[in-house]
Amino acid sequence: MLVIMKNDATEDQIQAVIRHIESLGYRGIPIPGALRTAVCIVGNQGFVEDSQLLSLEGVKETLRVTKPYKLVSRETHPQPTTITLGSLTIGGADPVIMAGPCAIENDDQALTIAQIVKGCGAQVFRGGAYKPRTSPYSFQGLGEGGLKILARVRQETGLLIVTEATDISNIELVEQYADIIQIGARNMQNYALLKRAGQTARPVLLKRGFAATIEELLMSAEYIMSEGNNQIILCERGIRTFADNTRNTLDISAIPSIKEASHLPVIVDPSHAAGRREYVIPLSRAALAVGSDGLLVEVHHDPSHAISDGRQSLYPEQFRKLMQEIKNLYV
Ligand code: PEP
Ligand code: MN
Repeated sequence: MLVIMKNDATEDQIQAVIRHIESLGYRGIPIPGALRTAVCIVGNQGFVEDSQLLSLEGVKETLRVTKPYKLVSRETHPQPTTITLGSLTIGGADPVIMAGPCAIENDDQALTIAQIVKGCGAQVFRGGAYKPRTSPYSFQGLGEGGLKILARVRQETGLLIVTEATDISNIELVEQYADIIQIGARNMQNYALLKRAGQTARPVLLKRGFAATIEELLMSAEYIMSEGNNQIILCERGIRTFADNTRNTLDISAIPSIKEASHLPVIVDPSHAAGRREYVIPLSRAALAVGSDGLLVEVHHDPSHAISDGRQSLYPEQFRKLMQEIKNLYV
């Protein structure tokens, strides 16, 4: 980190900054410039808290030279991370397709959709048993009953299961049923949940918050990894912008940006980004074109009767077409 002094900072103020840096256990090296002096902090292993430095007399600003995240960073781990679940590799050469309904509604619905997506070539079945809904009056999910249905889906289809833990009160149960634990956009900065997810043996699918920067997403992943879990898949699912043609705006540039900054696999959820099924296939193409390691797609056999997110759920025929396109690309 560099501490930039004001143009008119005195020598005493510069020395006071250096003494403060030394009191933190680091060294401060003054670099005099034509207009002002910068003090370079050396000897720190990671993050330096700068709020006290910023309040010292004569200090203009601080500049971070290294990233605030470490474990998830490509600088510390240049090779891409791959996650292996049985015969499935996430982050490898082929994209991984996770598909299913927004919410688990009942046995029949889940099994019907699971058979469809499996028949089309999906490897992971998605579906929420705990639903984080904007309104407290909306369907909140079947809870453990939904997890039991997911266990049946896995048993009958062999598909892996990704499902969301919405709170530290249900993550213990979710980890007993799920192959991958999802943390949703609304919970991206639920630090208690992130830390608990860091202690599970299951891979975690971490979705980007609606208004989160890439750095904030990576800091959230750092919370999980700093607790010992390095099996993290990041997910771009659209952010909130002024554009109102879609439910959210798919930040397609997030994928190469995350890949540059981090070694973790990244997938794209075109369904929650678009909010409309018509856009899901084009956005999926875009996602794969920019290097996404997979897709998380909502599919429903009867979207007009879906309890949640029917408008953005692909019809089985559309999903089949998408999977055919993907197969053509990757064979
Ligand atoms: C979901 O994938 O089920 C979901 C609720 O998405 P998000 O957290 O991205 O809104
Ligand atoms: Mn949904």
